[in-house]
Amino acid sequence: MSEKVYIIPCSGIGKVYGSICRQAAYRIVNDLRPGETAIECLPLIVKGKKEVVDELKKNKVITLDGCTAMCAYYDVAKVIDEPDAHFLSTSVVMENRDLKPEPDIYPLGENAKVLMEIFAKEIADKVGELLNGEE
Ligand code: SF4
Repeated sequence: MSEKVYIIPCSGIGKVYGSICRQAAYRIVNDLRPGETAIECLPLIVKGKKEVVDELKKNKVITLDGCTAMCAYYDVAKVIDEPDAHFLSTSVVMENRDLKPEPDIYPLGENAKVLMEIFAKEIADKVGELLNGEE
């Protein structure tokens, strides 16, 4: 029985797309799905830290990536097998072409904030689907 969903953002540090992933992960865990979700540090997963890997295997995992290199997806897949779901922040940008994200990585610009909220909501809906079969 799965108890929670781990949200694992990539480590994209220098571009707004990585910031959108990281901020979306915080928004989900803190506000949209508190108690049902958690975050974990990607480098610890890559290192194969046993407690972390065991915990991920017992639960569900969603990876978030800021570009098609898909570091979080591939790093997680190497350690625990395929994540239960995967999202690219670039997709939300493509789907909302009227909201060109500002390049600022911190704090996010106004358009990037709106994109992050849309992205976080999509992922939060997936959490509901994975845990409770919500559509
Ligand atoms: S997926 Fe892209 S943005 Fe994220 S850490 Fe990898 S290279 Fe950087």
